[in-house]
Amino acid sequence: MQTQSDEKIETLKKKVKGQIVLPDDPNYNEVRKIWNAMIDRKPKVIVQCAEADDVLHALSYARENGLEISIRGGGHNIAGSALCNNGVLIDFSHMKAVSVDAQNRRAYVEPGATLGDFDKAVQAHGLATPVGINSITGIAGLTLGGGIGWLNRKYGMTVDNLVSADMITADGRKIRVSEDENTDLFWAIRGGGGNFGVVTQFEFKLHPVGPEILAGLLVFPINQAKQVLQKHREFVKTAPEELNIWVVIRKAPPLPFLPENVHGKEVVVLAIFYAGDIAEGEKLIDPIRSFGDPYGEHIGVQPYLQWQQAFDPLLMPGARNYWKSHNLTELSDGLLDSIIEFARKLPSPHCEIFLPLMSGAVNRVPSNAMAYGHRDVQFVLNVHGRWDEAAQDESCISWAREFFNVSAPFASTGAYVNFMSGDEDGRVAAAYGANYDRLKQIKQKYDPENIFHNNQNIKA
Ligand SMILES: Cc1cc2nc3c(=O)[nH]c(=O)nc-3n(C[C@H](O)[C@H](O)[C@H](O)COP(=O)(O)OP(=O)(O)OC[C@H]3O[C@@H](n4cnc5c(N)ncnc54)[C@H](O)[C@@H]3O)c2cc1C
Repeated sequence: MQTQSDEKIETLKKKVKGQIVLPDDPNYNEVRKIWNAMIDRKPKVIVQCAEADDVLHALSYARENGLEISIRGGGHNIAGSALCNNGVLIDFSHMKAVSVDAQNRRAYVEPGATLGDFDKAVQAHGLATPVGINSITGIAGLTLGGGIGWLNRKYGMTVDNLVSADMITADGRKIRVSEDENTDLFWAIRGGGGNFGVVTQFEFKLHPVGPEILAGLLVFPINQAKQVLQKHREFVKTAPEELNIWVVIRKAPPLPFLPENVHGKEVVVLAIFYAGDIAEGEKLIDPIRSFGDPYGEHIGVQPYLQWQQAFDPLLMPGARNYWKSHNLTELSDGLLDSIIEFARKLPSPHCEIFLPLMSGAVNRVPSNAMAYGHRDVQFVLNVHGRWDEAAQDESCISWAREFFNVSAPFASTGAYVNFMSGDEDGRVAAAYGANYDRLKQIKQKYDPENIFHNNQNIKA
C-alpha cells in the first residue's frame, strides 16, 4: 500500500528534472559521501538538481514536510555542512557546467562545478580567476566563504572577482544579486557562506593567466625551519604580486626528487608560484634557494592547469579530518617557535601545517566592502589534522586543538569561515568581526526562520 509520504515523493519525482535518491536506493551511500570521512549523516531525500527549478521543488518539499535542508556544492566543507540527517540534501553534483565569454572575460558557472572544472574551461581561453589549490574542491562553497589561492596577491580573493549570482531565496524567489541588484544580499554572500539562499549560478571576472607559469617545491630540513621561515617572511614583504609562496610543514611524502632517507621526515616545503614573465620569475626566485640548505627541489615551467592539481594527491577524499585556523598579520618569532614545536610532534604522516600567503590585492579592498572583511591579513595559519583510522581521532584532534590554542596569542582577529570545523559555532561572530551585525540584519531580512542553517551559521 502506498503511504502518504510515498505519494509525496512520487509527486516530487515528477516535478524535478534531476534525480531523487532515497535511503533504499543502491547508490544512496555513494551519493551521500562527502570529502571528510568523519562526517556520516543520512539525509531522508537527496535531490540531485538538474536545473534551478529543481531547487524550488526541493525547498517546497522540505517546507511542506517540516524537513531541514543542506546544500552540497563540491562536498569539501571540513565541517560537513553539506550533509544533514533526515532532511533534504540539495545536491549540485549534476550541475557542473562552466560557460566562458572570452571576449568580455566572464565565466558563468553552475554550483556543482569543481575548481578543476572551472580552471579547465577558462584556461582553454588563457584565462583564470583566483580559486583554491585543490582541483576537486567545489567552487560554490569556496566562493561563498571567500576563496584563497595562488592568484590572490595579484587578483584578490575569489569573492573579489564575483560579478553576480543567481539565487533562490528562503521564500522561493528567483533573484539576481550584483553591484546593481539586491546589493545587500550581494554584499552578504561574498563571504557570508550559504546562510542567505541557494546560488544556482555564479558570474566571475576573468584575467589572462598562463597558460604556462613557473612553480614548484623547495624542501628544507625541519632543523632549518626557523631561519627559512624568517627569511621567507622578509622576502615576501617586497615580492611582486605575481609571486605567491605557501609554506607547508609535514612529514615528507615519497616525492621522487627527494632522497629516500628524507621520506617520512619532518620538512619545511616552500610551494612557489609565479604567474609573470618566466625569465624574470627565474631570477626572482633564485635567492629563495639559499634560505637554507634544501634537501631537494622540483621547480619548473608548467601549465597553470597542472599546478592547480599539484596538491591533489595529498588531499584526496576518504581520510578523517579536523582543521583549525587563525588569521595572521605577521609571522612573529614566537609563532615560528610554536610551529616548529608542533611540527616535531605531528601525530600522523598526513597531518600538516599550511601557511598561505595573502597580502597584495587582498589588502586593497576595504574591510566593509563585503562580508569577507579580513583585509589586513598577511598569512593564514591552517592546521590540518588528517589521518586514516578512527582510533587516531583523539590524538590527531588533540594535536590540532592544542596547537590552535598555543598559537592563538600570535593571531590577529577574525577567522576564515571556510577553514572552520564543525565545533566552532561559538566562534562565528568573532570570525566575521565588525561585519557580523550587518550580516545578522541581512539574515533577518532574507531567512528569518534560519532554514539555511547547515553552515557556519549567522543567527539573526
Ligand atoms: C582538500 C581541501 C582543500 C581546500 N583548499 C582550499 C583553498 O585552497 N582555498 C580556500 O579558500 N579554501 C579551501 N578549502 C576550503 C573550502 O573553501 C571549503 O571547504 C568550501 O566550503 C568547499 O566548498 P564546497 O562547495 O566543496 O563545499 P560543500 O561542502 O559542498 O558546501 C559547503 C557549504 O557551502 C554552502 N553552499 C554550497 N553550495 C551552495 C550553493 N549553491 N548555494 C548556497 N550555499 C551553498 C552550504 O552552506 C554548504 O554547507 C579546502 C578544503 C578542502 C577540504
